[in-house]
Amino acid sequence: MQNCPICNNQPIEIVHLPETDCKKIKCILCGSFIISNTALADRTIDKVSKEDRILFSGYIRENDERGNILKLLSDDILKIPEKVASYNRLTVVDKLITLITYFARTSKYIGQEVKIDYLTEFTKFFCKDANELRTLLSYLKERGYVNFLGSLGSTVLSTELTVAGWQEYENIKEPNINSKKVFVAMSFQNSAMKEIFNRAISIACEECGLNAIRMDLIEHNEKICDEIISEIKASRLLIADFTGQRQNVYFEAGLALGLGIKVIWLCRDVEKAKLHFDTRQYNHIFWKDAEDLRLQLVNRIKATVL
Ligand SMILES: [Zn+2]
Repeated sequence: MQNCPICNNQPIEIVHLPETDCKKIKCILCGSFIISNTALADRTIDKVSKEDRILFSGYIRENDERGNILKLLSDDILKIPEKVASYNRLTVVDKLITLITYFARTSKYIGQEVKIDYLTEFTKFFCKDANELRTLLSYLKERGYVNFLGSLGSTVLSTELTVAGWQEYENIKEPNINSKKVFVAMSFQNSAMKEIFNRAISIACEECGLNAIRMDLIEHNEKICDEIISEIKASRLLIADFTGQRQNVYFEAGLALGLGIKVIWLCRDVEKAKLHFDTRQYNHIFWKDAEDLRLQLVNRIKATVL
C-alpha cells in the first residue's frame, strides 16, 4: 500500500477519481484530501521539509473536520511553506490555549470524558509530533487543568477537563475583551471590495465602538508574516469575508478559531455556492451590498460580541 504523500503514514484509503485525474486520500493523520495525479507523480512534495509537511497535515485535517476537503495541485504543494508559516510561529502558550479550548468545546459538561489519540491527533493542536502533544498534556495535568482517567490502547488517553481547567477556559474564552481591534480577513484585490471595507465593515465596527484593521500587505507577498499573527492574537474579533475565495481568509479564520478569538463569517450572496466548507456549521452573513452588510454586521456584532 502506498504511503500518504503529505505525512508519509500509511493511508487508510485511496480512491481514484477517474473524471478528474485526481485521487482522494483518507489518511489517519491528515484526514481526507484530494491530490492530482500530476502532483503525486512530479514529487513536488519532496521539496517541502518534513516539519512543514506535518504542520500542513494539521491544516488539511482542520479543514476536513470543518467539511472542507482540500484539493491539492502541484502549485498548492509549492505554497505549503507559506501556508504553514503562521503555525511555525505559534508559542507554547498558544498551543496550550488551543488544547484547553478543544477540551471545553468537546466536553459539554464537567466530568465528561475526552479521548485524545496523541499519535494521530497531534497536528490538530499545531504540535510537531506526538511527543510534543504528550508533553503539553502532561503540563496541563500538572497544573491541575486536566485529569487522566486512564489509557485506552497504547496511544489513546482518556481525559477530562477539571473545574480549574474550566475556569481557565472561562479566562481565555474571550481573549482581548478590552481590545477594540477587529482583524479583517478578506480579499482587497479589487476596488469593489475596498469599498465594502470602507462603507460597510469599517463603519459597522465604528458604530459598535470597535476599530477595523486592514492588512493589505498580505496581498503583496501571500505570506502570513509575524505582524499578521500578532494582529490576530491581539484582536477582539476577526471578520472573515469569503467573497473571492481567497485561501488566506480560510487560514486566518481557522487560526483565530483555534486561539479562541471570535469569528464573524461573511460572503456576498451571489457567491454562496462557492464556499469551500460546510456552510451549515457556521452562521454566515450573506450580503447584497454595502448598506445591507453594514446593517447586518452591526446587529451581529451587538448580538454576539458586545
Ligand atoms: Zn497523511
